[in-house]
Amino acid sequence: MRLKPELLYFCKSKINTDMFKPLDINEKKETSSTEPVDVERVKCLIIGSGPAGYTAAVYAARANLNPVMYEGLQPGGQLTTTTEVENYPGYPEGVTGPVMMEDFKKQAERFGTDVRWGMATKADFSGDIHKVWIDDKKLIEAESVIIATGATAKYLGLEDEKKYAGGGVSACATCDGFFYRGKDVAVVGGGDTAAEEAMYLAGLCNKVYLIVRRDVLRASRVMADRVKNTKNIEILWKHQTKGLFGDNGVVEGATLLKNKGEEGEEEVKIKIDGFFLAIGHKPNSDIFKDFLETDTVGYIKTIPGTSKTTIPGVFACGDVQDSIYRQAVTAAGSGCMAAIDAERYLSEKNS
Ligand code: FAD
Ligand code: NAP
Repeated sequence: MRLKPELLYFCKSKINTDMFKPLDINEKKETSSTEPVDVERVKCLIIGSGPAGYTAAVYAARANLNPVMYEGLQPGGQLTTTTEVENYPGYPEGVTGPVMMEDFKKQAERFGTDVRWGMATKADFSGDIHKVWIDDKKLIEAESVIIATGATAKYLGLEDEKKYAGGGVSACATCDGFFYRGKDVAVVGGGDTAAEEAMYLAGLCNKVYLIVRRDVLRASRVMADRVKNTKNIEILWKHQTKGLFGDNGVVEGATLLKNKGEEGEEEVKIKIDGFFLAIGHKPNSDIFKDFLETDTVGYIKTIPGTSKTTIPGVFACGDVQDSIYRQAVTAAGSGCMAAIDAERYLSEKNS
């Protein structure tokens, strides 16, 4: 029996296995009626309670915008699914994600943010006053809206991703790679994210397997070349993951199928300590898509250097508009931008 207590102790994703049942926050609920039972007018509506939403709330509250925040299905956002956060400035000893997000919430409430349970289920940004329905019941009429609904990492849908949650399965190399220094890991995916994650891990780990389901990388040429020229990355072409194996909830390896469904299909086992998913993220932007411009994946487009969307008075911050960095500190920074942009928009509008 090979136990890896250091990984068990450190692996950040072990608190909440619900992360492997990604919230379908984009899914629209079917209801018999969308007639609001209750209408409320607010100056500043914040949708989402991750680092972006709470930072926007701190700034908006201090600017007397009386922000009302709806938390959504995951109060505190993605960081509530992790243990140690070591790269957020201001916590020299690190902090657990849930504690950090509780701190964010307290700070936002201290300045008067009205934090509420509820989910934005529909939006209408066609008028001067923006309309957002909460749980298909309440209608919020907002002078300004800050969208901070985040993005959700995609998983393969294997039972083993849940079984080894916190025991070596991760969807964020920047967040968790540090815990696999000197070890062997695998990255699944063939796009730019997988290439970047593989390169990042190659700088930390002994060996990185890149598990690619086709015989070609989707990643851009330059990224693909970098991966191919990195000595400790081995690309496993035409391989798909069948399952993981290990002991005591800790990953020790993966079972792969080479040439799945084709002649010469073969089962292959690799020994790894970490299994990183890099098959894409889904931004939680579906309910806004009829009104806001997004890229092909669904990330909300903002005017460069600002949080402004294509609709005046509607601002976006955090992972829902960021396909590149996707970190708590960048989400928080863009939340600050959104509140400042909203405050300036309202003061110009009302002057
Ligand atoms: P999120 O944190 O995703 O929050 C989105 C919020 O929007 C949630 O509160 C959700 O309930 C709400 N929401 C969504 N849809 C609706 C709706 N329709 N109505 C109302 N509310 C809605 N980053 C780091 O910098 N350091 C780390 O160590 C780190 N570790 C991580 C570990 C894991 C396991 C994961 C998954 C991510 C990690 N990250 C880390 C990334 C970091 O969590 C994200 O970059 C950050 O949380 C993004 O913040 P956000 O506010 O944009 O969105
Ligand atoms: P992506 O381009 O959609 O690539 C996803 C990859 O995962 C593809 O290789 C896909 O395989 C694979 N995949 C999807 N589902 C899978 C499954 N079930 N099993 C195995 N493999 C699976 O996503 P991304 O890499 O996250 O990139 C998203 C966008 O951001 C892209 O436009 C990308 O260019 C951009 N991006 C750019 C940079 C950069 O420029 N530095 C960095 C990161 C991301 P197939 O190829 O077979 O479909």
